[in-house]
Amino acid sequence: MTRFEGKTALVTGAASGIGAAIARRLHADGATVIVADVSDTRDDLAAELGERAVARHLDVSDAADVVRTEEWIQSEYGGLDILANNAGIGGPTFLTHEYPVDVFDKVIAVNLRGQFLVLQAGIRLMLASGGGAIVNTASIGGFRGTPQSIAYIASKGGDVMLTRTAALEYAQQGIRINAVGPGVIGTPIIADAPRELVEVLESQVPQGRLGRPEEVANVVAFLADNEQASHVTGQVWLVDGGRSAG
Ligand code: NAD
Repeated sequence: MTRFEGKTALVTGAASGIGAAIARRLHADGATVIVADVSDTRDDLAAELGERAVARHLDVSDAADVVRTEEWIQSEYGGLDILANNAGIGGPTFLTHEYPVDVFDKVIAVNLRGQFLVLQAGIRLMLASGGGAIVNTASIGGFRGTPQSIAYIASKGGDVMLTRTAALEYAQQGIRINAVGPGVIGTPIIADAPRELVEVLESQVPQGRLGRPEEVANVVAFLADNEQASHVTGQVWLVDGGRSAG
């Protein structure tokens, strides 16, 4: 018996990086996994996982698309047990006074508003079916400033507060809401960043290396586990190789 057998999990941003690792982890632990992403490569992952995996187009920044997915989950699966609210974009680097407003809006639309929209949908599904576990993907950047990344950092600070506020609201209705806060993880979001920035980030990790997506996914699975993490809600678990310790 695997720990998520019989459970339905929605993973957003599941086509790549941390989301793909979360989808693999939850699937390996027995869940039926909805591999949701704007990118078509979600289909490849769902096909690779095979039984108990289904690909779903979802743009988290599109409120109507989120509601369509919510209604589809309700009709197909009768509810939702686990939400990994993970989709996110990095955004380019600019000093604050030069940061393009349209880029700021785009990053906030996906990382903060999108995470909010999916959080709402997940809570509605879980209220209807008697509870569940939500794990938002925040970031170590939600707790500390990072030069030239004001939109991303503001969005991730917002994700921390989405997590804490919603956790308080639904703690007595069987919905635990936590977040994982990756440090610097070796995924395409990092590969696209300027090399000098990545080197600076790496040098700040006490373990001296980037994290692996699987190392984040393992913590997500723990937080999603109603037996192992039964008394854990409203928390952000940093997975950062020790960076936030100093
Ligand atoms: P990634 O680029 O590998 O994956 C992100 C996925 O999100 C992609 O598959 C992309 O298609 C999808 N996506 C983008 N916009 C979307 C939208 N509007 N709707 C649905 N899907 C969308 O990046 P990653 O590093 O795996 O990042 C995943 C999450 O982890 C993000 O929320 C990111 O902010 C967070 N994070 C990453 C790091 C890191 O170092 N990699 C650190 C801290 C936090």
